[in-house]
Amino acid sequence: MRRNQPCVVLTGAGISTESGIPDFRSPTGLWAQFDPMEYGTIEAFRSDPEKVWRFYAPRISILTEAEPNPAHHALAELERLGFVQAVVTQNIDLLHGRAGSRKVVEVHGSIRASTCPQCDASHSLERVLALLEERPEEAPRCASCAGVLKPDVVFFGELLPERAMEQAQALAASAGLMLVVGSSLEVFPVAGLPQQTLNAGGELAIVNLGPTPFDGRAAVKVEASAAEALPEVARILRQRSA
Ligand code: NAD
Repeated sequence: MRRNQPCVVLTGAGISTESGIPDFRSPTGLWAQFDPMEYGTIEAFRSDPEKVWRFYAPRISILTEAEPNPAHHALAELERLGFVQAVVTQNIDLLHGRAGSRKVVEVHGSIRASTCPQCDASHSLERVLALLEERPEEAPRCASCAGVLKPDVVFFGELLPERAMEQAQALAASAGLMLVVGSSLEVFPVAGLPQQTLNAGGELAIVNLGPTPFDGRAAVKVEASAAEALPEVARILRQRSA
């Protein structure tokens, strides 16, 4: 990180498991319990939004109640110290921003808002939570036209937000180092970002429990929990930059 600047961090669900949010692909992850084709695709949402909301409502509450863990805090500190230029995240949980990271690119959207597919009205997370609390059995509906709201998160089968993806690609291509944290690097097109860094002559470091298809091309692979490894990185760099 000291040698290869700028450093761009790419995070996935694994950075938030220690905040109590299950990831997708671990044996204890969400997709071990729920079929992604039944709950995670845009077709599923279009054909039965009420059913998808029954899956999504408890999940949105878990995400809202979770707190950033030492890994999120370490990345925010590394940004303040000048070692991290930006965090590109696949997570929708807002935990990087809540930990104090300032430059965060959310390539899979976030729970910050939900949009009405019929009239395009945007509803805040607070509003959606209030609707879910008032009528826990029902999907939240638009205040203007009563359409079932869709969370501003990317479902399987949807395109990624164009601007965020452009930003992520530009950051990846200009990174001296891409640090991947808690991602299986199996979901494209985000999983293509490390290759862009490598193609442009940058290096790759990975902190992940479990293998990724990029392990063989990484300069460093740390097989450790994010909440243990990243505070240690921050501690060492803090001392050296003091
Ligand atoms: P993934 O589930 O495919 O991979 C997570 C990886 O992190 C796995 O390899 C797992 O072994 C590893 N891991 C788990 N706990 C870890 C820890 N404490 N420290 C280090 N590594 C750990 O997740 P992904 O690559 O982000 O998959 C992408 C999809 O998952 C995205 O679409 C993302 O939006 C979605 N997702 C987001 C959240 C969230 O917002 N917190 C949660 C679940 C899934």
